[in-house]
Amino acid sequence: MIINDFLVINERGLYCRYGDFYLDPKEASPHAVISHAHGDHAVRSNDYVYCTPATAAIMQHRYQKNAGNHFRIYEWSESFDLNGVSISFIPAGHILGSAQVLMEYRGVKYLYTGDYKLQEDATCEKIEFVKANVLISESTFADPSVQHPSASDEIRKLNLFNHNVLLGAYSLGKAQRLINLIADHCPQRQVLVHHSIIGLNRIYEQFGFNPGKYELYTRKRMKQPDQNLVYIVPPLTFNSYIRAKNVLRAFASGWMNLQTNNDLKILISDHVDWNDILTMIKNVKPSELWTLHGNGKHLKSYFKDQLTVKLLNHAD
Ligand SMILES: [Zn+2]
Ligand SMILES: [Zn+2]
Repeated sequence: MIINDFLVINERGLYCRYGDFYLDPKEASPHAVISHAHGDHAVRSNDYVYCTPATAAIMQHRYQKNAGNHFRIYEWSESFDLNGVSISFIPAGHILGSAQVLMEYRGVKYLYTGDYKLQEDATCEKIEFVKANVLISESTFADPSVQHPSASDEIRKLNLFNHNVLLGAYSLGKAQRLINLIADHCPQRQVLVHHSIIGLNRIYEQFGFNPGKYELYTRKRMKQPDQNLVYIVPPLTFNSYIRAKNVLRAFASGWMNLQTNNDLKILISDHVDWNDILTMIKNVKPSELWTLHGNGKHLKSYFKDQLTVKLLNHAD
């Protein structure tokens, strides 16, 4: 029988009282099961951290001494027990090391997706589908009007001219995926990256996901116009170049509102869109869907009587 309050949201985040642990807590917690190393999922200074090897490596790289007190690291599908809840990590296809968290308790399987994507990405483990009774899914883009275009079509927009491009992107995950897409689809383009991205690229390389060719950015290189260069920078640096001359500005993201005021739209998302969520549900075959982040109301009306849909971030 599905336990209705198996996971609840409290001030620290998503909590499992039966196993006494948090999933991606927003504040440092005694026991934190971490789906992936993005800052909104992996905070510093948890006491016990349960995660995949790559997630641990990235957290330790970013947070150094404050990464967490005790790391408990598990390979894909290796199960461990927290107070009777059996837990294992399944690839989520979002960034390097990103995991879905499969929890089994009293014969019922609960699958927490973390962030996930179905689109192809050569820089991280491909998503795997497992069956579960309850699917706890992020619903960032759970709206029928959202359909992500193909990433290769988007990146090929860089082939329409030879102007240098300042390409804003999150430094973990998106930057590596872009380096790889540019190598595959824009071979005449040379990639320069901001220094904050280099250390992350090294971790990708260590884990066997070499993003492709890149060099460290120097100011001098970018000053020469029309060199077919792409300079990948994190959001803060991108915003500080608002008046950059001789360069086209673009920000690679699935968010439409981050595409305004730029010279080019590059809609590349590391999250599922509407159809991807439906595909996920078809594969997981849950009898209940619990939604998190974004808004589950479209899913709720779409599935009406076919599937129980519960919005975890709302009162109902
Ligand atoms: Zn993420
Ligand atoms: Zn996220």
